[in-house]
Amino acid sequence: MRARVRAVTLDAGSTLIHWCAPPAERFELLCRRAGIPLPAGAGVEAARAGLRFQRRYGAPPGGGAEARAWWAAVNAESLRAAGVDGDLAVLGQRIHAAAQGVGAAFVPDPDVPAVLEALRTRGLALAVVSNWDGDLAPRLGAMGLARHFAFIADSTVVGVAKPDPAIDHLTCRSIGVPPESCLHVGDRPETDVAVALAAGAIPVLYDPLEAWDGPEVRVTRLLDLLGVLDGLETGDPA
Ligand SMILES: [Mg+2]
Repeated sequence: MRARVRAVTLDAGSTLIHWCAPPAERFELLCRRAGIPLPAGAGVEAARAGLRFQRRYGAPPGGGAEARAWWAAVNAESLRAAGVDGDLAVLGQRIHAAAQGVGAAFVPDPDVPAVLEALRTRGLALAVVSNWDGDLAPRLGAMGLARHFAFIADSTVVGVAKPDPAIDHLTCRSIGVPPESCLHVGDRPETDVAVALAAGAIPVLYDPLEAWDGPEVRVTRLLDLLGVLDGLETGDPA
C-alpha cells in the first residue's frame, strides 16, 4: 500500500505513557513491592500472560471486591507464566495490594522523546486520541509532552470514545488532515485498530510484548513507526 501520511495520532495509555512503568518493568516492580521474588528476566513473559488473560476475559469489573479478585487473577496468571511457585491466588492479591500504593503516576514510553521529535522533523502533524478521564491534557503538559501535539482528544472532554470513529473525525478536523492521511498508533486492537479502520485512517498496533495475534501492521517499539512510514511512502511493506 502506498499512502501519503500527513499526520500521526497516538493513543495515550500504554502507548505514549505507561502507568508506573512499561508493562514488563511494572510487573517486576510490583512484585518487588509485594516481596515476591521473580526469576531473572521473567517480566516480559509475565506481562504478556497478564495481557492475554485480560483480553480473554474482557474488561475488569468497575470496582470493589469483584475488581480486586479480577486483578488478583490476572496477576496469578502472570506469576504462573513467570514460573513462580506457591499459592498464586494469594500472591496475586498481594501484587494487587502493592499496586494500590503506586497512585496515578505515569511515565513516558522510553521511545517517546525521540519518536515525537523525529515525527515532527518529518513535518507530520501530531495529535493524541485517547479514552481518558478528563485530565489528559494537563497530565501530558506536566510531563512536557503536550507541546508536541496540535490537538489532544480526551474522550471525557470531547464526549466520544474509541472505537467510535467520531473521535478520530473530530481530531482530523481539528488538525486539518483528512483521515486517510492519518496514521493512528495504539496498543489495543479493539479500540485503536478498530477506530482507525472505522474512521478511514491507517492503523498500526503497538505491541511491545508481542501479545496479540492478528493481521494488523504492528510495531514492538514506537521508533519502528519511522520504518512503517518509510514503507508507506515507498509502497514497500514495513
Ligand atoms: Mg492504550
